[in-house]
Amino acid sequence: MSASPVTRFAPSPTGFLHLGNSRTALFNALMARAGNGEFMLRIEDTDQERSQARFLEALVEDLRWLGLHWQRGHGMSGEGGPWRQAERGEIYAEYFQRLEQAGKSYPCFCSRESLEKARRAQRAAGKPPRYPGTCARIEPEEARRRLEAGEPATWRFRVPDEGVIEFEDFVRGPQRFRSDEIGDFVIRRTDGTPAFFFSNAVDDALMGVTHVLRGEDHLTNTPRQKLLLEALDLAVPEYGHLPLIADSDGGPLSKRVGSLSLRDFRAEGYLPGALLNYMARLGHHYDNEERYRELDELAAEFDVARIGRSPARFDPDQLLYWQRQAVAALDETGARRWLTPAVSGMVPPGKLPAFTALIRHNVIFPEEAREWAQRLFGREPKLDEAARKVIEEAGRDFYESALDALEATGADYAAWTDRIRQDTGTRGRGLFMPLRVALTGRRDGPQLDGVLDLLGTAESCRRLERCAKLA
Ligand code: GLU
Repeated sequence: MSASPVTRFAPSPTGFLHLGNSRTALFNALMARAGNGEFMLRIEDTDQERSQARFLEALVEDLRWLGLHWQRGHGMSGEGGPWRQAERGEIYAEYFQRLEQAGKSYPCFCSRESLEKARRAQRAAGKPPRYPGTCARIEPEEARRRLEAGEPATWRFRVPDEGVIEFEDFVRGPQRFRSDEIGDFVIRRTDGTPAFFFSNAVDDALMGVTHVLRGEDHLTNTPRQKLLLEALDLAVPEYGHLPLIADSDGGPLSKRVGSLSLRDFRAEGYLPGALLNYMARLGHHYDNEERYRELDELAAEFDVARIGRSPARFDPDQLLYWQRQAVAALDETGARRWLTPAVSGMVPPGKLPAFTALIRHNVIFPEEAREWAQRLFGREPKLDEAARKVIEEAGRDFYESALDALEATGADYAAWTDRIRQDTGTRGRGLFMPLRVALTGRRDGPQLDGVLDLLGTAESCRRLERCAKLA
């Protein structure tokens, strides 16, 4: 690998980021960081009809939320910009002209219908569809006349008739394509805007990208782009293609999962660290697979040689596993920030820090924090069948002793439970379970001393009295 890789993420703002393209962004960010290089963000918005400002805003926000910061690119000044392809028309015009002058491109007047007809005929004959070269044979004089007369035309790149295009894919190894299998492809649309092949390749070269790491669906574009860059005498980056993400059964990713956007996961309460750790392993192998890593550690151990060649499988259980790890890795402030929006209005503001510090170990999603808020700060906590049984078994005397003890000791958990132990002779589960059920309505949950602190003596007494009556 060259000393300092320059990688890039080049999304088209035509939808929200999903797992597939977020993983591509992540791998590029990790690769740059691992090699002390630069990660760049370029916006491929040449398709003016499908590109939308709200998707652009969303993708910037989502990348920031994940913590994938770029050192060059969109939203920044500095060499290499503008970073939105929609603003690079003049640059493309210059390179269109160079190709034209070198006789390496030509206008194509074929109608959509005639192209479609040719494709159908090729398919019927069992051949891969490719441009039959109709307009490549038009004399330059005639072409000029038709252009001047205003006839709509795309521009195509003249692919050499013979030869092979080879490159070393830094993920998949040596690749080889025959040039006679590639039809002359469109580089400029009728409206003058560049086609993907063109702007994508030219920008990589002009922006100094050294490594293009992208989805496998782009593999067959690479020989075309290599030809184009060579024809323009521009630097050809190294290319690597990531295996696609498959469903848990190995088949194509279901529509449901495939269309889940990063913001859907975020809305469900997933933490960025969970998604980062999960996605980093979608096709990349880490030693000590189960260990949660911060972004820096993910980068330090990232190596393109560890990218697998078979499709990575989407596994919701794995994602859940990483969510647990990410929750555990939060510090107290992080936990509070993560949980507060879900419980605001349910927890007295003064008690928020103590509440989140207490229940953070008992929740995987903020939604579950709402349940605890309801239990601790709502009216009486709901009792299920099993909880009622615990209350009955403990009996009225137990709860009356607990009440007396609480009056004597106040909310000093150790003193309170010592006293109950002495008065009732109960120990272990027999002591703690009835207290837990009384205070929270559940048989499992956060540390009981913390619960007592949060509820305070008066509310705890009320809850014990309720149980004394029920028992
Ligand atoms: N805009 C292209 C895409 O989103 C970029 C492909 C590439 O990374 O080269 O698929």
